[in-house]
Amino acid sequence: MHRIVIVGGGAGGLELATRLSNRFGLRKPQRERNVCVTLVDRHPAHIWKPLLHKVAAGSMSPASHELSYAAQGRWHGFDFQQGELVGLSRSSKHVMLGAVRDDQGVELLPQRALEYDTLVIAIGSTTQYFGVEGAARHAIALESVAQAERFRRRFIEACRRAGAARGSENGVLAPRMQVVIVGAGATGVELSAELRDAACELSQYGLHDLDPTHDVGIVVIEAGPRILPALPERVARATAERLGKLGVTLMVGESVARVLPGSVLTGSGKRIRADLTVWSAGVTAPPVLSLLDGLNINRRGQLVVRDTLQSETDEDVFALGDCAACEWPGKSGGVPPRAQAAHQQAAFLVEALTSRVEGKTLPQFRYRDFGSLVSLSRFGAVGNLVAGSGEGLYVAGLVARGLHASLERMHVAALYGIRRMVLDTMANWLRRSTNPRIKLH
Ligand SMILES: Cc1cc2nc3c(=O)[nH]c(=O)nc-3n(C[C@H](O)[C@H](O)[C@H](O)COP(=O)(O)OP(=O)(O)OC[C@H]3O[C@@H](n4cnc5c(N)ncnc54)[C@H](O)[C@@H]3O)c2cc1C
Repeated sequence: MHRIVIVGGGAGGLELATRLSNRFGLRKPQRERNVCVTLVDRHPAHIWKPLLHKVAAGSMSPASHELSYAAQGRWHGFDFQQGELVGLSRSSKHVMLGAVRDDQGVELLPQRALEYDTLVIAIGSTTQYFGVEGAARHAIALESVAQAERFRRRFIEACRRAGAARGSENGVLAPRMQVVIVGAGATGVELSAELRDAACELSQYGLHDLDPTHDVGIVVIEAGPRILPALPERVARATAERLGKLGVTLMVGESVARVLPGSVLTGSGKRIRADLTVWSAGVTAPPVLSLLDGLNINRRGQLVVRDTLQSETDEDVFALGDCAACEWPGKSGGVPPRAQAAHQQAAFLVEALTSRVEGKTLPQFRYRDFGSLVSLSRFGAVGNLVAGSGEGLYVAGLVARGLHASLERMHVAALYGIRRMVLDTMANWLRRSTNPRIKLH
């Protein structure tokens, strides 16, 4: 029996566990198979991370988009173990998982060691605070459903307070509450549009005294010279124009020096009111990667992999997604930390691990950039599509919105299959037609 252990059930890891289990027919009785797949994650359920800003704004309910790992394992034939990767022994080929505790700290599962023949590390990335004082303490990052939900509740409370305060300060034009988003990458930009939409919706559900544009200030601060630094300039320009029309204030070329309980201090000495601060200024590799029994990591802490996605140090260990440093020939900086990269690497590893189990030579991974899309909630979407080596094709309007929505549906199809994805799409549509557009409690 060849034991494949995949640590991290995110955009890449869960697709890999599902498709590998399908490939090896793991729903067959145990005696008929020669491979077993175990998926490990610190959480019990999966959510596709690019949706977290929608959870934070309340425009998407996590309950209808989360997928239980145990259920997916039951349907596809892999084993699920909840636990956090805390160590690795390459000589005895096992990974160490920390104990799982409940909200009160009571131990539910003890520390465990899991043996493997092939290990795939797919634990994603974590928020990069760049050592900014107060950022980790006073700003909310969007890494998990719990954080996104915490932000959503605080946003609604702040809007309620702002609505109630209206009228007591006649004639004052300043916003009644203000959200500061640090970082104008895709996450920060998309969140700003979602929040404007959420404020408009809230004003129709009981907060009638809230003027969604003037009472709710939304400020995006970016240290670089323009928003969306990873996207073509034309996309950034069109996005900035639309955000301006939505009343979102963009401060570019301005770094954040300190985050305080009700404000943010910039490098140039400005103090900006911040009832809520969101930190979306970048990601870095999870610190545990530097503790993994001498596996080679790069300056950013990612596991350095060859073009087969095997670790440079150990060919029994593979890595994919945000936590892997994978070369992108002809481009500096390597394969970017994106959902489409994790998806392509998962698809590649289904073939590569099949070859490995069958004792064949491993293929080589080549990343293909298909472009990027930015969703501005119901206010539209923009992006660029790349079909070859050229600059890419600018897209906007309904085409861009449709393409953006299809990205998440493609992930769902990879996990559920086409038939269930269609049913799930219909169920979501029905749910939306019988519920408010945003989650109110
Ligand atoms: C708000 C937001 C919006 C985004 N929008 C886009 C977008 O529009 N387009 C795009 O291409 N990309 C986007 N991204 C980036 C994209 O989500 C990531 O590049 C992608 O999810 C990486 O996939 P992954 O499988 O490497 O890691 P992840 O999807 O992050 O999954 C990692 C998994 O590992 C688990 N894990 C972590 N540490 C441990 C541990 N020690 N032990 C056990 N389990 C662990 C986590 O619980 C998680 O399930 C966005 C990210 C965020 C946060």
